[in-house]
Amino acid sequence: MHKLQTKIIVALASVMLLLTLVITLASLASFRDFSIRAATEHTRTAAEVIRVALTEAMLNGTIDRRDSLLERIAGIHGLDEARVIRGSQVNEQYGEGRISESAADALDLRVLESGKPVFTLVGGFFSPEFRATIPYIASSKGDVNCLLCHSVPENTVLGAVTLTASIEHMKSAAIMTVAFLVMAVVLFAIISILFLRRLLQPLVTTANEIEVAVEAAISGDFNHRIQSRTNDEIGKIARQFNALSEGITDKLSDIRQNVVQLVQSKPDYQGNNLLTETAETVAGLVHVSQFKQAIEEDETASEVFVRISDVVQQEFKLQSFSIYEVNAQKKKMHPIIVDAVPDAQIHWCEQAIQDHCQGCRAVRTGHLIDGSENTLICRSFSHDALAKDKHYMCLPILESGSVGSVVQLVFDAEESSRIRNLRPMLEAYLRESAPVLQAKRLMNSLRESSLKDAMTGLKNRRFLEEYAETLISQCKRRKVPMTLLMMDLDYFKPVNDTYGHDAGDQVLRELAVLLEENVRESDLVIRYGGEEFLIVLLETDAESSLQVAEKIRAAVEKHKFKVGGTSLSKTISAGLADYPNDGQAFWQVLKFADVSLYAAKEGGRNQVVRFHKDLWSEDGDY
Ligand code: GH3
Ligand code: MG
Ligand code: MG
Repeated sequence: MHKLQTKIIVALASVMLLLTLVITLASLASFRDFSIRAATEHTRTAAEVIRVALTEAMLNGTIDRRDSLLERIAGIHGLDEARVIRGSQVNEQYGEGRISESAADALDLRVLESGKPVFTLVGGFFSPEFRATIPYIASSKGDVNCLLCHSVPENTVLGAVTLTASIEHMKSAAIMTVAFLVMAVVLFAIISILFLRRLLQPLVTTANEIEVAVEAAISGDFNHRIQSRTNDEIGKIARQFNALSEGITDKLSDIRQNVVQLVQSKPDYQGNNLLTETAETVAGLVHVSQFKQAIEEDETASEVFVRISDVVQQEFKLQSFSIYEVNAQKKKMHPIIVDAVPDAQIHWCEQAIQDHCQGCRAVRTGHLIDGSENTLICRSFSHDALAKDKHYMCLPILESGSVGSVVQLVFDAEESSRIRNLRPMLEAYLRESAPVLQAKRLMNSLRESSLKDAMTGLKNRRFLEEYAETLISQCKRRKVPMTLLMMDLDYFKPVNDTYGHDAGDQVLRELAVLLEENVRESDLVIRYGGEEFLIVLLETDAESSLQVAEKIRAAVEKHKFKVGGTSLSKTISAGLADYPNDGQAFWQVLKFADVSLYAAKEGGRNQVVRFHKDLWSEDGDY
């Protein structure tokens, strides 16, 4: 049975029981009281009758036949015994009476002494009897003057009468009445309980249904409905509960629909708590939006990659992952961050993809590669990792239709389902990253092109202006030298004049290639002016730089420039000055290199001149 119903019925039964008890006790008490009163009256009357009869007998001289009188009186219905006791004064006057007429017990004696009647119940519960001992007091007043026959003072106790009356019939009547009352109460209780059960049924059923529905709601299922059985408050509660559930379901499905749109995939709740899962997804989307704001304000693509790395690590609790950047033109890709470490070596893929980005399945196909089910789907996944039973998921970040970067997650088999659930949220992050990365890359290339000379592909003078101070401060900090080599083609003007401007341009382009071929990758080749070039030799002192300059000069001298169908030989002059020997400031060293170049031209061209103090005087004479 239901708890609520049990409680109410037990309470009702207890009340009924208590009621029965109270009624029984009250009835018994009042019956006892009634019995005593009735018997008292009864015995008083009998005593009076005996008194009158005895007095009559005395007056008529028939007192000797008093025994038969008493017998007849005792035979009256309801009386068991009638016994007359003689007082001492009477015995003194008339002599001892019969044996039966002397006091039989303490009660008799007490009454004879005190002259007061005693009424009491005797015989216990099972055979109750009423006993009355009533004294006869001598009196000269009233219907008969006692003192005429008894020579005693007024108010003397002449004797007493002891009467016993059965009250068995009273007891039976009381038991019957109590039994009837108890039966009535029990009947009333049964009817009440049945009625109450009927009345409580809808309340109890509704309460139980609400209990079940609330339990389901706690675990995210709002589909339970309560049947409205009555038109009272209980029915109203059921209807209101249903309205509440429907409201929540509606709002929740609205939220879910929006979430689905934002995450661009249907979240897989798998019978989990819909409410908390939706709340978690919404919280996740808030993080995504905060992430978006943060990366938009970042300066470079590298910072964006670090943020993606943080998300993978902190939000998705993954320690093994790679972020690759793809160079589609060069068909290369390189790791930006591996296992949260920037600029680390490739680790979770075969090395070959670095020079052949098409080897990466995510790059080739442009869509997500799920290696959590079939680990062999990408041939380029690290064979070592495969041997350790690692699984992976690779998500490409598309920039204008082609793959700009790839995020690769690596995990153990037991993590597969968790990662698959995280996938929509990670994709949401990457979707936000894509346009930002593209914009940063575009900015970068714009910036790079603004620092580049379009014709030769060398760095331009703007680059020099921007980086001159950085170069010097780097040298200062690392305490390394740096040499500046200023170069100018000899008699270039005639090339233009003879072969035309395009031919001149061609010579300049060939010269640029020649210069880059003759220096290290870390050195900077800058087109300083029209046919003037500046080479910054980093970490190189003047002595070594002289050799480099000489090598370049010789290479140019040897080179055949292809111009207008023929080939042409040209020479170059160079001036050389270094930091820190010749100057401490970049522009000072540059000036001295230029001064040296002028000296080389003066000296007959096709030569290299190293700066020395004599070439420069403060008044500008050289
Ligand atoms: P030298 O330096 O040996 O004294 O003689 P030069 O003939 O080279 O004289 P100068 O350095 O003064 O001449 C520079 C010439 O280079 C002037 C200009 O016509 C030519 N020039 C400068 N920039 C370009 C360019 O971008 N393309 C072409 N075709 N010619 C250029
Ligand atoms: Mg020149
Ligand atoms: Mg010149």
